[in-house]
Amino acid sequence: MIPYGKQSIEQRDIDAVIEILKSDFLTQGPTVRQFEDAVAKYCGAVGAVAANSATSTLHIACKALDVKQGSIVWTVPNSFVASANCALYCGATVDFVDIDANTGNLCIAALSEKLEQAARLNALPDVIIPVHFAGQSCDMARIGALAKQYGFKVIEDASHAIGGEYQGKPVGHCTYSDICVFSFHPVKIITSAEGGMAVTQNPQLADRMRAFRSHGITSDPEQMTEESHGPWYYQQQLLGYNYRMTDIQAALGLSQLARLDEFVTSRNQLARAYDKMFAEIEGITPLSQSELQLSTYHLYVVRFTDSSRELQQHIVTKMRASGICAHVHYIPIYLQPFYKDLGFSEGYCPNSEAYYQSAITIPLFPLLTYAQQQEVVKTLRNLLTGWQNIQNNIKE
Ligand SMILES: *Cc1c(COP(=O)(O)O)cnc(C)c1O
Repeated sequence: MIPYGKQSIEQRDIDAVIEILKSDFLTQGPTVRQFEDAVAKYCGAVGAVAANSATSTLHIACKALDVKQGSIVWTVPNSFVASANCALYCGATVDFVDIDANTGNLCIAALSEKLEQAARLNALPDVIIPVHFAGQSCDMARIGALAKQYGFKVIEDASHAIGGEYQGKPVGHCTYSDICVFSFHPVKIITSAEGGMAVTQNPQLADRMRAFRSHGITSDPEQMTEESHGPWYYQQQLLGYNYRMTDIQAALGLSQLARLDEFVTSRNQLARAYDKMFAEIEGITPLSQSELQLSTYHLYVVRFTDSSRELQQHIVTKMRASGICAHVHYIPIYLQPFYKDLGFSEGYCPNSEAYYQSAITIPLFPLLTYAQQQEVVKTLRNLLTGWQNIQNNIKE
């Protein structure tokens, strides 16, 4: 089976992990800090905090920004459930802003309109979590301007986008946001098996996330609120969690980081090759990715001109039967039963729903070969032609 995404592990990644296994620290050693410092440097950020997943990183990012019961957090439906769940963990209320169907990213016009309404109702959001879908940055300058105007904080969910650029700067530079979060799950751009990291330009936010990551405990003498009991002394000052990344994971992440630019380049080359192949096929259009920003192409998404749930089911099922793991990203979050129970229903964000029914994700990862790409496109083309013939026969 050709997967839709897959890690690339070389001998140097394996060696880096083995070295840690033979060392004194499997966790809470120096390698996590090294990985954090390297990612901060890569992004041009002041602080970086690693955790055991992007989901837990999003949670501590919300906690650091004081998201709590009574807070309002907005995100987009076209994402993995973690983008919204992180706010619910804090007891906040979650709402959704529709997407721009061309890019799959948060629609700025929809956001402006929703903010105007919310201002009138005195129900403005405290935090907005835009998602850089498929590795293409949202229009952060405009989100940042609205954040200033309306006074909300911004957490970028850049789970797809480490190694990408926006306005010539690395995603994670946080020019227009408070915190930016990456995922290191194996299908993402670089991996630490499980893992996530938050970057920020605000050292206080980094300290708060660090505290929430590890039980809310500090051993820093400067932060103590009472006199020390002795050299063993530590204080729990907040209700935190155990969301720590291990040094084993950090060593893998650090080794992968050295290959990040290579991964992004090869993903872009593979995407260009797909673009060319699809230019000649009617009825399918690749998701538009701006030439102005460097996308990481976490996902390669194609959209059907005449789409339906039946067509999607037919194509994805048959592709999988042919050994190609096509996928669909994403089921609008609020259509999940858990969110429907919170009061959301069909029709809430029409673009996200129409988008969901028109898109499929086809394989894209650094080790994908040109021959495999040709096979993917040929299979897809034949299935679509077959489907069109069946439809035409039904009509006649
Ligand atoms: C993968 C992903 C997450 C969650 O990442 P984990 O590291 O698996 O917790 C969150 N948001 C988006 C958009 C993702 O793609």
